[in-house]
Amino acid sequence: MPGTGLAYHPHLLLHDAGPALVGDPPEPYPYSEAEPIAEVPRRVGRIKELLDHFGVTPRLVPLDMGPASIDDVARIHTGEYIQRVLEISVKDGVGDAGQGARLTRGSFELGLLAAGGAIAAVEAVATGRVSNAYALVRPPGHHAISWRGMGFCLFNNIAIAAQKALDEGWAKKILILDWDVHHGNGTQDAFFQESQVLVINLHQDRLYPADSGYIDEVGEGAGTGFNVNVPLPAGTGDAGYLAAIERIVLPMAHQFAPDLILVSSGLDASRSDPLGRMVVSAEGYRKMTRVMMTLADELCGGRLALIHEGGYSQSYAPICGLAIIEELLGIRTPNGMLGTQVQADRLPPTHTVGLDAEAVLAKVLELQRQYWALPAAVSAS
Ligand SMILES: [Zn+2]
Repeated sequence: MPGTGLAYHPHLLLHDAGPALVGDPPEPYPYSEAEPIAEVPRRVGRIKELLDHFGVTPRLVPLDMGPASIDDVARIHTGEYIQRVLEISVKDGVGDAGQGARLTRGSFELGLLAAGGAIAAVEAVATGRVSNAYALVRPPGHHAISWRGMGFCLFNNIAIAAQKALDEGWAKKILILDWDVHHGNGTQDAFFQESQVLVINLHQDRLYPADSGYIDEVGEGAGTGFNVNVPLPAGTGDAGYLAAIERIVLPMAHQFAPDLILVSSGLDASRSDPLGRMVVSAEGYRKMTRVMMTLADELCGGRLALIHEGGYSQSYAPICGLAIIEELLGIRTPNGMLGTQVQADRLPPTHTVGLDAEAVLAKVLELQRQYWALPAAVSAS
């Protein structure tokens, strides 16, 4: 077996959007004070440190990665938007690419580098150089739409890599599962009219963006039925996420029959995230990874690439990242930090699907049954 690839570059840690006023719109002092935005370099740097510390890095295949080309980014973004990000980064030195997507000098090149990491992971998997891969990149991408950055995202890394895979003939049909706690509105938008890409979003209901991610956003035109939103209630936990994957993602994936599976791997559904309230444990992320690996084995020769998105607990999200990458390798290192799982195991949502989550899953199944043969909803009563 060719192994598990890691797309990572230390320069990715140089993107630093600095302190900013919190709030949308931000209230001036004394109602809020400037503080470092949640998307700090450390949240990705610490995952790499854990991989190094526990001896995982030498077991990974390092993937060559460089900045995406402008042509690659233009597969998803308008020329006008790309130019604007360049001008803010180079001329102004600081600014916002849209809504909550701050950037500073050098961020343009680092945005290209993140997209390049996603492309490197997808190409390595799709062409069989590695069995599976993780692109440990930042800034994240899944909120960025064609003409605007949003929510820390400058360029939509996973959408750029998926579109390139289609254009280059690396894949004909791609399943994208987005398990970031926020709705992957940018990825939805990129493929909303596309039947070659099935996009399934699991996210906390109306967290961010508050006006997207609803169940009835099913795609349009040729893409009708190829966009799936599962807006889960706060507190859903491991059991609800696994139920969503088993009841919705797996049957759809078997019918769609992708030849490549991608995951927008946000770690902000974790139980300690300052921005999310979904209490998923590191073991939960490990299990979700295993389920997606089994699915990829069944459908497409194991071709699975995960692209890093959010995840803002600097202490716990890196443990989730370590668990995911260990699972891709099929190993479990003897690291004591995963003892934090004892606390997670005490939480009811780790083991039980709550009634509110059951109700959402039932609604999604009911609506999506127009497009897919799906199991009968499990009664919540
Ligand atoms: Zn997120």
